Amino acid sequence: MEKARLDKIIAGEGTYSRREVRLLVRQGRVLVNGVPARSPEDKVVPEAVEIMVDGTVLHCRRYTWIMLHKPAGVLSATEDGRGATVLDLLPPELRRRGLFPVGRLDKDTEGLLLLTNEGGLAHDILSPKHHVDKVYYARTAGCLTEEDCRAFAAGMTLGGGLECLPAGLEILSAGPEGSEGLVTLREGKFHQVKRMLAARGKPVLYLKRVRMGNLPLDPALEPGTYRYLTEDEVESLR
Ligand code: URA
Repeated sequence: MEKARLDKIIAGEGTYSRREVRLLVRQGRVLVNGVPARSPEDKVVPEAVEIMVDGTVLHCRRYTWIMLHKPAGVLSATEDGRGATVLDLLPPELRRRGLFPVGRLDKDTEGLLLLTNEGGLAHDILSPKHHVDKVYYARTAGCLTEEDCRAFAAGMTLGGGLECLPAGLEILSAGPEGSEGLVTLREGKFHQVKRMLAARGKPVLYLKRVRMGNLPLDPALEPGTYRYLTEDEVESLR
């Protein structure tokens, strides 16, 4: 496994600049596997070390995994001439790492969006074969019914003959004024939740992704903020 300079690894985590790292090391505030670092130029194997700064563990792994609470009004793209993208919500250190969103949320959809530079796992998470369910909270017009749930479970065919895999619909509240439900998909076709609910005559008014696989959207994340996934969380997606 390749070694890398300590200051480069820590600065790469996005919180501190290299200049700050040099100062932190001099002040004895950086621990490498529990031992104060001697020099910012020390070379270590990123996958083999735990680095702490002021008692906080920095996750220095080969790949970066970020959980973002996507706000409405931002595009799930890496670049787009037409407006702000989710990458604009990250600091420059992170933007330089070649991160991309794991699947897309519509511009007006909020919620859990993973960003990574680990292409293989990102691909698996999106593949229906991998069984990573995506769960959405939806507010709809009209009254959701058990018949809607059965239609979702049977696998719907949308306009243009687009066939959807069986999906989950759990009704949280329902009435003539509008409804709330949780939709669980194993795949991610374009506008799928909106199209499925619209096909049942219950157009979506608000949509938020709340879970991917075993990973719920962290309730501590305000819209527009992010955090690193822990190693256990990344493993839970494999
Ligand atoms: N389904 C949709 O309709 N929109 C999203 O953003 C995600 C799933």
